[in-house]
Amino acid sequence: MNFQTTALHAGYEKDTQGTMAVPIYQTTAYEFRDVEHAADLFALKELGNIYTRLNNPTTDVFEKRFAQLEGGEAALATSSGMSAIFFAIANAAEAGDNIVCAKQLYGGTLTQTAHTLKRFGIESRFFDVHNPSEIEALIDEKTKVIFFESLTNPSIDVADTEAITAIANKHNILTVVDNTVATPVICRPFEFGVDVVVHSASKYTTGQGLAIGGILVERKNLVEKLKNNPRYKHFNEPDESYHGLVYVDVPLPPFTLRARLSLLRDLGAVSSPFNSWLFIQGLEHLSLRMREHSQNALALAEFLEAHPKVLKVNYPGLTSNANYEMAQKYFTDGLCSGLLSFEVASLKEAEKIVNATKLYSLVVNIGDSKSIITHPASTTHQQLSDEELKACGVPAGLIRISVGLESAKDLIDDIAQALEA
Ligand code: PLP
Repeated sequence: MNFQTTALHAGYEKDTQGTMAVPIYQTTAYEFRDVEHAADLFALKELGNIYTRLNNPTTDVFEKRFAQLEGGEAALATSSGMSAIFFAIANAAEAGDNIVCAKQLYGGTLTQTAHTLKRFGIESRFFDVHNPSEIEALIDEKTKVIFFESLTNPSIDVADTEAITAIANKHNILTVVDNTVATPVICRPFEFGVDVVVHSASKYTTGQGLAIGGILVERKNLVEKLKNNPRYKHFNEPDESYHGLVYVDVPLPPFTLRARLSLLRDLGAVSSPFNSWLFIQGLEHLSLRMREHSQNALALAEFLEAHPKVLKVNYPGLTSNANYEMAQKYFTDGLCSGLLSFEVASLKEAEKIVNATKLYSLVVNIGDSKSIITHPASTTHQQLSDEELKACGVPAGLIRISVGLESAKDLIDDIAQALEA
């Protein structure tokens, strides 16, 4: 099915009422027919609803639809992008293991990997996303995940996904990609050998800044990589917390199954039915919005590039950009999403410009239909040391813009007056 058709229809079979809109199943629990039915559901002999911390019919539509849009096999919705990332990593690694991550990551993902996971005994080792050849020296028998963003936030770099997955496959290691900024409209990581895709649904998926959520998607036939793989014993050995279930022996996608039955059950970072419903609404027009976001961003990037006060513009749609070739290779129709950043001479100069804009909202978010301006060094990346800031490509004079769906002319006029203020 075509992407846009999938975005409108996949995963939903109309109920007896024939409702065109997917209903919001706002419920905590579900009645079992009898004791045997309940026992069968718990034993996975029959699939069905048990309790909304584990599954929910509205969330199920969101998961099925998103899995198809990514070209994956199954998905698991979570309460935030951060929990989707944590689940993807914690599903593969445990205390004593390590993961290899790109340095260029969203600030929250950097603190999760570098600091929080460390407290749980999982070490993170970092490579430069422009230099996948650094990865091999970081790998050992305890490496469980290679993690990177397809289009990085806020440094706006494009990962050489095939180069990274080739190394991962050579060592039989899972790759997890955060595809939040590109979205499946622009990049489909599974086509380039990625195993698991994660998203913050809080961004372009909702599209209007309406809700926090996340999703994790598993590629087709991931079981082949997990089965008998010594790195992933916990998928191949009985899970004593689920009466001896061996995940790779169940005829269900094992990565999302384990994340649901073990992590979602025990950690509870579940998507609310209402938020899942909002994400379903967002998916209906995701592809239309991503084209418009991309066109507006390119127009603004071209204006900024020609401005004398601007030292550098980071937008992979610009032919002058170091990521241009990668974007042409990995992104659909050369679209590059709505995220751009530009650098001015100093922290002071950046603050002046941000304060002088009228149309852009000073907000720590991206992917809204309304344009957003951010100064990462004083907000999202404030917790990082100078060294960490430099390593992830965030100089003090960097301004990030999430280009919205306003008219491109109005967006350019406003930034022009702010640069002169
Ligand atoms: N991944 C990326 C690329 C992000 O930009 C963000 C948030 O900005 C996250 C993950 C975290 O998502 P959430 O805020 O939904 O937890």
